[in-house]
Amino acid sequence: MFNHAKSDYECPICLAINGIENDDTMIKQEDIFYQDDSILGIINSKYVEYNPGHIILVPREHIENIYDLPDEIGARIFKMSRIFSIALKEIRKCDGITIRQNNEPASNQHAFHYHLHIFPRFEGDDFEKLSQNANILEPIERKKYADDLRNWVKTNM
Ligand SMILES: [Zn+2]
Repeated sequence: MFNHAKSDYECPICLAINGIENDDTMIKQEDIFYQDDSILGIINSKYVEYNPGHIILVPREHIENIYDLPDEIGARIFKMSRIFSIALKEIRKCDGITIRQNNEPASNQHAFHYHLHIFPRFEGDDFEKLSQNANILEPIERKKYADDLRNWVKTNM
């Protein structure tokens, strides 16, 4: 419903879910720190100045936006957003958590596969202003954040 992806859209998130690394996706396999039968947790390829290594949660199935999201997958994403918010609190010692989810280009949705952002927040991080211009986080840096979360999952789940 209210879809914007063209019929030949090469979905960067589906490529990653299918184990593919190429020029059509910025996601590396090592960015994926969690998966179960319905969702995956991935370190986002872009970062906000003082909030690097934030998480996106995505459904395994290609679903463009919230309008099409089945309730049971939405419930799973909501539950895991709470668990990984606690993980970020423990690992990053952040002062707070911001959760964001964009639908349609007017809302700044860029990848047309539903994804929920979970950002670690820090006192004075000027996030609302700086999140307007996110830059690419190098894969080597993303791997460190993903490794921390992989270890957290092993210990806590
Ligand atoms: Zn997709």
